[in-house]
Amino acid sequence: MVRVRFAPSPTGPLHIGGVRTALYNYLFARQNGGKMILRIEDTDQTRFVPGAEQYIIEALEWLGIQFDEGVHIGGPYGPYRQSDRKPMYRQYAEQLIRDGWAYYAFDRPEALEAKRKEYEAEKKTFQYDCNTRSGMENSLSLGMEEAQRRIDAGDPYVVRFKFPDNLDITVHDLIRGDVTMNSRLLDDKVLFKSDGMPTYHLANIVDDHTMEITHVIRGEEWLPSAPLHVMLYKAFGWEAPQFAHLPLLLKPEGNGKLSKRDGDRLGFPVFPLEWHDPKSGEISSGYREKGYLPQAVVNMLALLGWNPGTEQELMTMDELIKLFNIEHISKNGAKFNLDKAKWFQHEYFQQLSDEEVGAMLEAQAKEHGAAAEHDYCVKVAGMMKERITFPSELWDTCCYFFQAPTEYNEKDVAKRWTPDMHVHMQKVIDILNTEPFEHDAIHKALLDDYIAANELNTGKVMNSLRICVVGRTVGPDMITLILTIGKEETIRRIERAIEKLKVEN
Ligand code: GLU
Repeated sequence: MVRVRFAPSPTGPLHIGGVRTALYNYLFARQNGGKMILRIEDTDQTRFVPGAEQYIIEALEWLGIQFDEGVHIGGPYGPYRQSDRKPMYRQYAEQLIRDGWAYYAFDRPEALEAKRKEYEAEKKTFQYDCNTRSGMENSLSLGMEEAQRRIDAGDPYVVRFKFPDNLDITVHDLIRGDVTMNSRLLDDKVLFKSDGMPTYHLANIVDDHTMEITHVIRGEEWLPSAPLHVMLYKAFGWEAPQFAHLPLLLKPEGNGKLSKRDGDRLGFPVFPLEWHDPKSGEISSGYREKGYLPQAVVNMLALLGWNPGTEQELMTMDELIKLFNIEHISKNGAKFNLDKAKWFQHEYFQQLSDEEVGAMLEAQAKEHGAAAEHDYCVKVAGMMKERITFPSELWDTCCYFFQAPTEYNEKDVAKRWTPDMHVHMQKVIDILNTEPFEHDAIHKALLDDYIAANELNTGKVMNSLRICVVGRTVGPDMITLILTIGKEETIRRIERAIEKLKVEN
């Protein structure tokens, strides 16, 4: 039974790189008929940010990434928040000490700082490890009796992992193959802190084991910690889960990790939902609030670092679940591409029904004080949808279906509205008043019998008509537009333009 987990730390809003990690875990779980778990890793109380946990839950819910167990829904392996599991970790730290895999360390922060300075002065870097630990204050150098005496006397201590000297540790990664690191390069990481809390490393391994996690799918930034994790499983005598470390999400230019600052600089969100920082009050934009559809965000993220092995780009969540495979995840970082994000958004926007887009338009029209009948909005939405990427563009793109122009674009007028134009526009009014109000009749009367027969410039006349009706030379097919807004309204707009533009010219 496959069991995977998404294990964010509630230190702020969830970066879209984290969303992608959650998504890949979800796809893998669903594909294998397994379980997806949400665990909150909040052992570092100094980095705790109020609201972050709720944000993570809301963001994943919005995207349709569902959990089978987790901090918000419970489950048989709970609790799912590490601070709520606090009492269970100490015994594991003590077990490691008993078995010789860990030791107590009493070094004060000032002593560690002094050591670092001492090394720096010699252009070296201090690392608490197999070479230096004997010169530090710990249960190995002091002896267990003295260590116990200090602990009983209330001296603060941490528990550190004791890496064996000169051992090649191999992490088998499903994406990268075997990654080997020698223990001499690794420091004796703190597993348990003086505040009685485990560190990420200990809690992560204990929880993955006790929650029976089978696959750890997480960001590449955790690869350097993986040898320690592998060793911890060994030390406990537990079978390790399989690891897959996902490639980084890179800046659009390709060098360096995608950061919040890149988003600010290039004008795209790096967070799924808008985030109001509780401390600074700063607001960071979110995909949801920018009008992105969750399907578009999911599809875009799925392809940042993975491909189905074909050219196919548009995939629903269900298709992604079918097609996803860890073998097709790339080893190299994936460059974020804003144009591609917009392309996905446009594609998915087109898949909305006219009814849905019409409802959005109706709401916006009402906000702008325009009379907007539901069926009319749906009709306009159907005509205009293909020009729209974000819902926020609807009103600006469609407003002339609801309101007569109040001004006329100067450039368009200068280009199209010749002094004789009022005569031609009057002719349009005559045609509308006499011909049946339908496409073919108007087309023939205006384009064939009038414009062509009199050898007029079609572009000039039709665009001038557009200026009358729209205010500028944009919009759908002119006759369709007239038929949609109606005969009386069109005539009123033409009359008004003749008036206004005569005076202005
Ligand atoms: N709490 C870690 C994070 O915030 C989880 C790393 C892991 O998945 O092991 O990314």
